[in-house]
Amino acid sequence: MGKLTRRAFLVGSGVAGVGLAAAGGVAGRNYMRDREPALPPLQDADGRLLWRNWSGIEHAYPGQRAAPRGEDELLAVLRDAPGPIRPVGSGHSFTALVPTDGTLLTLDGMSGLVDHDPATSRATVLGGTRLADLGPALAAVGQEMVNLPDINKQSIAGAIATGTHGTGRGIQAVHGSVIAMRIATPTGELIECDHETNADIFHAARVGLGAFGVVTAVTLQNQPLTRVLKRVELRPTEEVFEDWPTLRTRHRNVEFYVLPFTDRSVVITHDVTDLPVRPRGPDTDVEALMGLKQLRDWFEFAPWLRRRLAASELAKLPAEETVDEGWKLLSNERPVRFNEIEYHLPIEAHIPAIREILAAIEKYRKDVFFPMELRVIAADDAWLSPFHGRECGSIAVHAYYKEDHDFFFSIVEPIFRRYEGRPHWGKLHSLKARDFAGLYPRWKDAGEVRRMLDPDGRMLNDYLTGVFLDG
Ligand SMILES: Cc1cc2nc3c(=O)[nH]c(=O)nc-3n(C[C@H](O)[C@H](O)[C@H](O)COP(=O)(O)OP(=O)(O)OC[C@H]3O[C@@H](n4cnc5c(N)ncnc54)[C@H](O)[C@@H]3O)c2cc1C
Repeated sequence: MGKLTRRAFLVGSGVAGVGLAAAGGVAGRNYMRDREPALPPLQDADGRLLWRNWSGIEHAYPGQRAAPRGEDELLAVLRDAPGPIRPVGSGHSFTALVPTDGTLLTLDGMSGLVDHDPATSRATVLGGTRLADLGPALAAVGQEMVNLPDINKQSIAGAIATGTHGTGRGIQAVHGSVIAMRIATPTGELIECDHETNADIFHAARVGLGAFGVVTAVTLQNQPLTRVLKRVELRPTEEVFEDWPTLRTRHRNVEFYVLPFTDRSVVITHDVTDLPVRPRGPDTDVEALMGLKQLRDWFEFAPWLRRRLAASELAKLPAEETVDEGWKLLSNERPVRFNEIEYHLPIEAHIPAIREILAAIEKYRKDVFFPMELRVIAADDAWLSPFHGRECGSIAVHAYYKEDHDFFFSIVEPIFRRYEGRPHWGKLHSLKARDFAGLYPRWKDAGEVRRMLDPDGRMLNDYLTGVFLDG
């Protein structure tokens, strides 16, 4: 969320004293709630090693693991390896895109900047490159990506495969900057594609869920390195809702986090500047989150008190400003694990939908404490992009990894669906093939391209079978 909040938010303010007085009655419940989820066995009965995603919600015991160091080696793996063959980036997706008992394939050995053109700010990078490594590599040649997501741990191919995005006025998701790709197919072919060459493959496989083949390299349309002013400010939520149409046109990048049960939101903006560098300090997001959790732990039984204490403490926090190159400021560390649902809605539905979600959570789920994140993403033309043909407002709802997230499906998702939202491919949802067919105008065409590239369905695990074929 930025570094606005600090432990002083709760401790040393009198809140702790009131909380301790109330704590006795809820201590038992919180003890039960604060237990580490069970870790699956590190090996299965056949000695196959555990793979787990970032949040811990998905795991698998792949029969084979492959880490090719070049395209020839990769093509050999694709021809011979047992299916389902599942590419993995950095395992940061929440959905079961990666789990396989067949072959788990990483491009960790195929990463880095291949080529760049100073005149056009274009660069070609290998599919396994992590965004965190790409930032400094591009900066060294005077370039930066047009935008970045909240974290930079993802591989470039993994980010593109799920429609990973940041936020910004007229700015597309990461795959919007991809102008050409190389894909190794499960039949052992290597295909180059762009808007002119193999255009159908380019449109269908750009946001490809790792189900069309393995992306070995992408050419990105970047921009010259810029310095930005990042501003983090707490404001009354109602004021931010009212101001949102202005905010999202006034700033290059703007997003806000709604803090439930506080009537407050954190607004984060990034704008190009020539002010001198004022580097970011240590991240205090963990303290902020744990402060919100503590407030929930103590005052879940009395939302009015929780709201009043939060509002009075949060009101004391000043706005914060940082100045640096964009790639150093746009992404953050996320040491506190969580699970997440995120949908992309027509932009006009953004505020009506968050109003409904906030009201429903505050009415029915007083245990929720994680902030909800709202961003804007420009339309693009990739067939499976959640932003296909429409500018979107996204809403992301989170749950602490130790706590249940059933309210994603009972409360939040029905609201998203009523507003014709499309789910983020890397985040939790309950949709199947028949639902997607109604949400994506080029769904059938994308399915045909997928079948052409993977006629025997060797890249489909159970989850992807539900997405593409069976649901
Ligand atoms: C803490 C956290 C913060 C996040 N923040 C954001 C955010 O700000 N914005 C946002 O949009 N999303 C966000 N996400 C979601 C994340 O960006 C996506 O799930 C992304 O796909 C993860 O990239 P990865 O490299 O970990 O890919 P993985 O999760 O490992 O894989 C994702 C998909 O990519 C495929 N894939 C991987 N490599 C290849 C390849 N070489 N060729 C073809 N397919 C491949 C996989 O098969 C799979 O289908 C966040 C997730 C977490 C956990």
